[in-house]
Amino acid sequence: MPLYESQTLRIYNSLSGEKEAFMPINEGYVGMYVCGPTVYSNVHLGNVRTFMSFDMIYRYLLHLGYKVRYVRNITDAGHLENDADEGEDKISKKARLEQIEPMEVVQRYTVDFHNVLNTLNFLPPNIEPTATGHLIEQIEIIKMIIDNGFAYTVNGSVYFDVHKYNEAHDYGVLSKRKLEDLINNTRELQGQGDKKNPQDFALWKKADAKHIMKWPSPWGDGFPGWHIECTAMSTKYLGENFDIHGGGIDLKFPHHESEIAQNVAARGIAPVNYWIHTNMLHLNGQRMAKSTGNTVNPHELLSGNNKFFSKAYSPSVIRFFNAQSSYRSILDLTNDGLLASEKGFNRLMEAINTLDELPAGNTSTFNVPEWRQKCYNAMNDDFNSPILIAHLFEASKLVNQIKNNKASLTLEDLELLKKTMSDFTFDVLGLVNVAKEDSSADKLSAAVEILINLRNEARQNKDFTLSDKIRDELAEVGIQLKDSREGTTFTTN
Ligand code: AMP
Ligand code: ZN
Repeated sequence: MPLYESQTLRIYNSLSGEKEAFMPINEGYVGMYVCGPTVYSNVHLGNVRTFMSFDMIYRYLLHLGYKVRYVRNITDAGHLENDADEGEDKISKKARLEQIEPMEVVQRYTVDFHNVLNTLNFLPPNIEPTATGHLIEQIEIIKMIIDNGFAYTVNGSVYFDVHKYNEAHDYGVLSKRKLEDLINNTRELQGQGDKKNPQDFALWKKADAKHIMKWPSPWGDGFPGWHIECTAMSTKYLGENFDIHGGGIDLKFPHHESEIAQNVAARGIAPVNYWIHTNMLHLNGQRMAKSTGNTVNPHELLSGNNKFFSKAYSPSVIRFFNAQSSYRSILDLTNDGLLASEKGFNRLMEAINTLDELPAGNTSTFNVPEWRQKCYNAMNDDFNSPILIAHLFEASKLVNQIKNNKASLTLEDLELLKKTMSDFTFDVLGLVNVAKEDSSADKLSAAVEILINLRNEARQNKDFTLSDKIRDELAEVGIQLKDSREGTTFTTN
């Protein structure tokens, strides 16, 4: 029986503003879409926090036994400066400044994004579609919206008619903004270009002569609007109606609000059952954002080479720090916070690495099945990882008590404790047991030392065929031996 059948996961749905029991559309299957990065610069730790929270959510869904199709896109065109409908494309601006091709910008920062995520032990999504790879799908949806009367064409651009849409539907269903308030808050002199109303947004923009990223369309050469990309890529792979859509809370309006409107206008169906929004990472009390320059790059935190923090922090400490607060709370990145997380992470690893040495007793002085269910309850309560970590600490305390003969567990309970701690620590939170990694490196060194000694013996016996064979075959697997007066050392590549 899959675990999800015995657990009741509740998710805070931004659409209803309430925690709701999670019921996927197809039993046992989950479709999840998360807005990916706009690849015009290195991701900062704020971006990483959002993706890391969804990595944990993905991991927990997998752990519960769901078959998940996780789609996270790459925005490689159409995202304009200031997240608006006017101004330069973020990627082509970077290309212009660096005098390289826009697709070189895309490639450079996509590679960086993947490197950062691999270093931080992320699971890759099942599909990672790009906006430029789905232009045909975007054009098709825009045509449907025009045919249904919710968009209009002006001078080679297509705009979504928010006022018309709001007559029949609710533009504000997700963000709870009222169109009247949006109208009142729009400054009169604000340029609206070709739009009927300033609240309308672009589905397709005509490219001016300077615009280098452009594609043919029924309305002339141009490029897609930012919101239509996610509508096309999410529904292509997950269907017109799917389970979960996520992103940072800053994307709720206008990006996600507009995604709902586009789907309803094109197909008459609200696309998403559960909207999940992650809260922001702050640095020095202010939101981490590319636009203000208040950022730390993950490489800088991992290397310690930055002006904010006293030392380098490992990938698992960064993950642990993130998991120590709820994905829905603002998280302030501070040196003290990271130091405390490092201590906590080390304490947890010590306990886990002691587990194998613990003796089993005749009786249990601690209710392990009840504790295990508490761990599930924490994650079932809208992925409450800080409460889960509190339970893992409780188990660490128990491990120390058993070690000091102050508590005992039967063999069965001991095995359940080990499995549960490992499931949550490694599979769900995605932490890595550094001590274990070190010990495998130690074992490799010891094994190569043995071979070096055998080679030395062969040389002393003038068996150069054997000594050369050892050296050459080690080289073939990437281990180079280096002889010097002090002896033989080795390097790996
Ligand atoms: P972008 O590359 O700007 O499209 O952003 C990629 C993702 O990072 C989006 O889901 C944003 O909501 C998210 N994001 C941006 N800044 C922060 C922050 N300071 N904390 C958490 N998430 C953020
Ligand atoms: Zn998106």
